[in-house]
Amino acid sequence: QKFVYRFGAGKADGSAEMRELLGGKGANLAEMSNLGLPVPPGFTITTEVCNGYYANGKKMPEGLVDQVEESVRYIGQTVGAMLGDATNPLLVSVRSGSRASMPGMMDTILNLGLNDETVEGLAIRSGDRRFAYDSYRRFIQMYSNVVLDVKHENFEEILEYYKHQNGYDLDTDITADDWRTLIEQYKAVVQRKLGKPFPQNIEEQLWGAISAVFDSWNNARAIKYRELNHIPESWGTAVNVQAMVFGNRGDTSATGVAFTRNPSTGDGRLYGEFLVNAQGEDVVAGIRTPQNITEVARVEAGSDKPSLETVMPEAFKEFVAICHTLENHYRDMQDIEFTIQEGKLWMLQCRNGKRTTPAALRIAVDMANEGLISREDAISRIEAAQLDQLLHPTIDPKAKRNILTIGLPASPGAASGEIVFSPDDAEKLKALGKSVILVRNETSPEDIHGMHAAAGILTARGGMTSHAAVVARGMGRPCVSGASALRINAELKTVTASGVTLKEGDIITIDGSTGQVIQGEVAMRQPELTGDFAKLMEWADVVRRMKVRTNADTPRDAEQARKFGAEGIGLCRTEHMFFDTDRIMAMREMIVATDTEGRRTALAKILPMQRQDFIELFEIMQGLPVTIRLLDPPLHEFLPHGHTEIVELAQSLDIDPATLRARVNQLTEQNPMLGHRGCRLAITYPEIAEMQAAAIFEAAVEAGKRTGKPVVPEIMVPLIATKKELDIIKDIIVRVANDVQLATATKIDYQVGTMIELPRAALRAGEIAETAEFFSFGTNDLTQTTYGISRDDSGAFLGDYLKAGIYSADPFVSIDTVGVGELVKLASERGRATRDKLKLGICGEHGGDPASIAFCETIGLDYVSCSPFRVPVARLAAAQAAI
Ligand code: PEP
Ligand code: MG
Repeated sequence: QKFVYRFGAGKADGSAEMRELLGGKGANLAEMSNLGLPVPPGFTITTEVCNGYYANGKKMPEGLVDQVEESVRYIGQTVGAMLGDATNPLLVSVRSGSRASMPGMMDTILNLGLNDETVEGLAIRSGDRRFAYDSYRRFIQMYSNVVLDVKHENFEEILEYYKHQNGYDLDTDITADDWRTLIEQYKAVVQRKLGKPFPQNIEEQLWGAISAVFDSWNNARAIKYRELNHIPESWGTAVNVQAMVFGNRGDTSATGVAFTRNPSTGDGRLYGEFLVNAQGEDVVAGIRTPQNITEVARVEAGSDKPSLETVMPEAFKEFVAICHTLENHYRDMQDIEFTIQEGKLWMLQCRNGKRTTPAALRIAVDMANEGLISREDAISRIEAAQLDQLLHPTIDPKAKRNILTIGLPASPGAASGEIVFSPDDAEKLKALGKSVILVRNETSPEDIHGMHAAAGILTARGGMTSHAAVVARGMGRPCVSGASALRINAELKTVTASGVTLKEGDIITIDGSTGQVIQGEVAMRQPELTGDFAKLMEWADVVRRMKVRTNADTPRDAEQARKFGAEGIGLCRTEHMFFDTDRIMAMREMIVATDTEGRRTALAKILPMQRQDFIELFEIMQGLPVTIRLLDPPLHEFLPHGHTEIVELAQSLDIDPATLRARVNQLTEQNPMLGHRGCRLAITYPEIAEMQAAAIFEAAVEAGKRTGKPVVPEIMVPLIATKKELDIIKDIIVRVANDVQLATATKIDYQVGTMIELPRAALRAGEIAETAEFFSFGTNDLTQTTYGISRDDSGAFLGDYLKAGIYSADPFVSIDTVGVGELVKLASERGRATRDKLKLGICGEHGGDPASIAFCETIGLDYVSCSPFRVPVARLAAAQAAI
């Protein structure tokens, strides 16, 4: 069995298609080799080996050792050095690389191949003792931290103390002999901590590193990252072993990270950063503030540090050409890592670059316009759920800003919140419902839970490609990085800027689009959905088959949804119209009434309010379809419970509070979700349905007159289980319609349909469609009743179910296609077999979830309906589903 795939020097065993087996990094290193690009030679141990390693109690499979040894020799032959050779040692890096990019979450080891003996060989061979000893001490530190579990801090402490003792400011002040002394101290720490020496055997080092990378697949932060990004554990990671090239060989060497287009804005120009005389991790760790790659970017950033274009023009030119090659080859924006060793350029990694949502839109639209991809490709490139980020507020340009300092605009959008200094505090306060801004010198992968909990992230150090910036962009969190004027005291929990000292809990605002850090809260503005967004939506609307409606109960929601492109209302929950204080009294009066007459009196108060609501909705929707659902709620939602509430209501009804309390107790249910709700209300109290139907038809007539556009109301009956229920209620509606038509001498077009939200209704859909003119799937209740789990109480165990893999996703968020979805499919088929023009839609929460929308497309629904802010998401997802 082939465990190991080689690459480098113009050819490779693998290719970009093999990312499942080789991981993203390995597959792209192979692809770049095949393209003839300068890739240091190396090999990839497959993800299958990782999975086997775990399946076999962390043992490497038989035959792997031979394949690895042979491939190490191959690297050696290609570069003319040998692993462990005392005079001419080969140095390699050992890196993780899973199928999906998991930046910084797993472990990496650099400079492997050094010990007390080979370091001398390297010193002589390179003619640079300082470089050799520096590399060795970096290796000891990294290897100890990752493989031996002797933490970084131990070494940092020694280094800081040594610098202090010798009056050194910077690492660059340290001489070759200093490093040599420090190496002895580093090794002594390892000996002291472990009771045995730092491993000198290079074989042992190599296998230690390979195992550590496999082990890091299951470290806490990798697990958390997988959880957040829905990456299955079963994918495993590959391991890439590759000849080292050095960006820290003096002033003709450098290392950097670049994006072929700007990952923050989507601007089409090459964007990147580098450091002279540094190793790769230095750029990402954000310890030194890097320089721009292009001269244009340098000028725009107002930086006085020279660009790569000026300091290394030859390498720059070659690099630009490679960027073009890669972008044309992959037809997507590339994120590239490179190193220049003594003037020679080496490519270390390329992958499709992570980007902000605005950048994703711009890049997709630009690339389609450039002819690099099709419009369908452009539509498919955008993750629909991401659009949500565009709908977030930005700072009102007219608002007064008390600017404390300005950092780098690392991830767009604005956020206000309380300052916190640790990721744990961020998580805690978030759980209390607070909005927090996480303030750190720099972030590391260990902080990821806090970054996720924070509304925004602010760092004092690090560039646009620092960990904080990359992760924040991926999560869609606003981020300002490298705000170097900040003085953070994490112990005292204070931060100082421009002479102002703020403490934990104080409010700040960050603007990730300009880099501004602002004291206090600032007025925000709702986004305008124009430009690239509008263009992509226009393309999506051409492709999409399903209509997108909205769930809206108020004129404000309806207006918002229209702005977002809703093509009608798919669900108006009429009970939501009664939550405001004036109206709830009338509603309560109706509910507690003990006879028809009492109810009719209360309903008479409600009718004009309800009619007015409908007129407004019809007017806003300008002739688009509007589905209005008859009263559905479990009555307990409206019952007065507290003492004061009962006394108040008793007063307004002019009855004895004790009598009222008795009535309330009588109406209280054990299991209201399965109680007297939905169509059952209309069966017991037909006068409710009568009132609502009258309000709807009268409003339709009135709105028709006002707008000059015919209004076609769709009246929807909730929670039916039998055809008979629907028959009875439809009779009432038809009777009221006839009355209103007669009274107003107007002909009204309308439809009567039903929700399908109980399994029995789905199963009996064939006969129900004899009465129903449309079905709308209420997948919230259908999920509740199919699984037999409560919508309101499942939170208590849902986490355990997800962890145990019983559910792959929360079934109330993403439709269970094989169970609940099966019922939807079956009901659609049976319904349409009876009535071939039967209109089918979905109005549960799933109507705004991209995966569920894809399912709706496969079973041929006519429309999805979702909350206003998800309308753009649904439009895009529906288009993607149709491609
Ligand atoms: C549903 O059950 O999916 C639905 C849309 O109705 P509600 O959420 O109001 O119960
Ligand atoms: Mg329902």
